Amino acid sequence: MTQHAILWSVTIPEPKSFLNKPLPQKTDVLVIGGGFTGTSAALQLAKGGARVTLLEAQTIGWGASSRNGGQALSCLHHTLADAIKEHGQERAKEMFLAATRAADVVEQIVMDEKIDCDYVRCGNIEAAFKPSHFDKLQREQKILHDVADYEVKILPKSETLSELGTDSYHGLMVNPRSGSVQPAKFVMGMALAAERAGADIHEGTQVMGIERAGNSPTNDGTRFMVKTERGDIETKEIMLATNAWIGNVVPQFRQRVFPAESFVIATEPLPRELAQQLIPNNRVVYDTRKTLAYYRLSPDNRMVWGGELTFAGVGAKTNINTLRNGMLRIFPELAKFNIDYFWHGTLGITLDENTHAGQIDGMWYSMCYVGHGVTLATYLGQQMANGILGKASNNPFANLSIPFAPTYQDKAWFVNIGKVWFRFLDMLR
Ligand SMILES: Cc1cc2nc3c(=O)[nH]c(=O)nc-3n(C[C@H](O)[C@H](O)[C@H](O)COP(=O)(O)OP(=O)(O)OC[C@H]3O[C@@H](n4cnc5c(N)ncnc54)[C@H](O)[C@@H]3O)c2cc1C
Repeated sequence: MTQHAILWSVTIPEPKSFLNKPLPQKTDVLVIGGGFTGTSAALQLAKGGARVTLLEAQTIGWGASSRNGGQALSCLHHTLADAIKEHGQERAKEMFLAATRAADVVEQIVMDEKIDCDYVRCGNIEAAFKPSHFDKLQREQKILHDVADYEVKILPKSETLSELGTDSYHGLMVNPRSGSVQPAKFVMGMALAAERAGADIHEGTQVMGIERAGNSPTNDGTRFMVKTERGDIETKEIMLATNAWIGNVVPQFRQRVFPAESFVIATEPLPRELAQQLIPNNRVVYDTRKTLAYYRLSPDNRMVWGGELTFAGVGAKTNINTLRNGMLRIFPELAKFNIDYFWHGTLGITLDENTHAGQIDGMWYSMCYVGHGVTLATYLGQQMANGILGKASNNPFANLSIPFAPTYQDKAWFVNIGKVWFRFLDMLR
């Protein structure tokens, strides 16, 4: 039997509850959203001495942050080569280096705050699905070296067995600086660290709207009145950390940021020898398709497999079968193991598939990490907090215009059609 439950939430000690606390009437910085972005921002703000309040509509990590693959990647979604084409060499390099620093920041926070989240700097594998994809990986290795002085390892098809127990791929790229976390433990660990540093955290508190407190700040610096279902809060600064749901809070982002569902299965625990044979160095893995598969072993040796051509709005059984079939194409020896868990989560994406962070109408925001939010959301939450504190802040993702989608309606078919289009591109490339 497959449980419809998130493996990571089932294997976390009873999480602390931040429900039903009285709300303050005033704060200095209001963080909206309790995922990696929001908890990391709250931690940095509280450590910087700000009076910070975090509001989460559901529970800490309820969004993508407790449901993801836990791949803590030291790279961008786009290859550096593609990022250079889009943004120019200097900016693309800064973006890439920010992503590598982001991996360091995750490690630093885990160490400093002693977060027990099964963090390992295991490295990640990008697996070439077609021969032409391997050519692209080889070109990327050279660009990473020449432009960013960053080293990755390339393995041709004849050598892939040292990293993956399959001959399905046409070569691999190994990035040794990536890591993995148990994401539900990591996000809860950051929330607890933020609270220890002085942040005031409230779950079950949905922000319904934001109003300006007037044309100019009041004497005490209040600039915004934030409406929640549990009362209103005056604040000087706002950090928007609602990712896929930002359009509900700030209308300018509607038809620019879309919620996209990603689905995941986890097998029953595998025998240790088999797990080691399939992923010998326990790295996290994804392939080179646009409709990619991402996978890894859990700390208790389950195969955790996500992505593939799965769709919102179709039956769970269909998506489970798609994921399982994708997994068995690579690792047929998993056929006899039960699928214990199936779950899904919602990412924020834009048509340009870039990360976006900066300021809008005097509010700070950071969002849309395109499958790289374990590291980038944590890093940019911290960097936005630095900006709010008036400290130096590194944000090479600032001021990118976000493409508008006039045909977008809040319906699953919009993203589903995008996935079919991506699969079509996968067949051509
Ligand atoms: C299935 C899946 C697999 C993934 N795998 C990986 C991976 O392996 N590696 C990786 O790096 N990334 C991965 N990602 C992406 C990663 O999880 C996200 O980029 C990251 O979690 C985003 O963090 P966040 O804090 O910005 O958003 P979220 O974690 O989504 O948090 C936003 C929070 O805001 C709250 N909220 C929304 N509206 C309001 C409101 N009005 N008032 C109050 N609160 C509100 C929501 O309840 C939510 O908890 C994956 C995502 C999914 C869904």
